[in-house]
Amino acid sequence: MDEIINRLRKVRKGAMFIIEAPSGTGKGTVIKEILKADDNIKFSVSVTTRPPRDGEVEGVDYYFVTDEQYNEFLEQDAFYEYVDSQYGSRYGTLRSEVDSFINVGQDVLFDMDWAGARQMRKKAGDDVVTIYLLPPSVKELRKRLEGRGTDSKEVIEKRMGIILDKISHWDEFDYVIVNANLQETVTKIQKIISGERMRRVRQVGLKGFVKELVKEAKEDA
Ligand code: 5GP
Repeated sequence: MDEIINRLRKVRKGAMFIIEAPSGTGKGTVIKEILKADDNIKFSVSVTTRPPRDGEVEGVDYYFVTDEQYNEFLEQDAFYEYVDSQYGSRYGTLRSEVDSFINVGQDVLFDMDWAGARQMRKKAGDDVVTIYLLPPSVKELRKRLEGRGTDSKEVIEKRMGIILDKISHWDEFDYVIVNANLQETVTKIQKIISGERMRRVRQVGLKGFVKELVKEAKEDA
């Protein structure tokens, strides 16, 4: 029986969890907590042309590239999805970050905007699960953006300016959580992840397992 369970685990199809939120909602922290607690989910490191913020690490938070390097990725068709951001920087998800994991039952977590989530849904359909985090209030959001102390006043105003536009896309997402409390939000997302893992379409090994059960039942009779 153990052998069968192990085989089942291996043939499970990975899911793509996309988390989006207006900047300052605490998305980065939530993502870090989810990854820390679960070895079966891998972060998809995006490519960006924006400069690193304090504490951000190359290859961990992003692959930081120049416009020229980004253009090369575009020419090579290396992106699963990409977006020229409203902040004047460009972002993209490399195919190499995704494909090899999904097929061996490894889930992948994406920090991605609504435009990217749309593209992913088009390409990967049911493999994609989208989660939107809302801030508890705009006042709180501004406080968090300013408290971060990493973006200039101009960038903060720009980010504040597009927040309403971003929020208008909340109803394109499968799950919506108001991030009022970090630990509660993390727990809610963990529940979503474990529920989605159990969906029949993801458990592609079930057919064989049920076959074995039926065979065993017949032998038992
Ligand atoms: P930030 O510059 O604050 O790290 O990210 C700005 C926005 O770009 C966020 O909404 C983030 O989710 C989004 N983003 C980061 N990486 C990607 C990506 O690979 N694709 C898309 N479409 N959006 C991304």
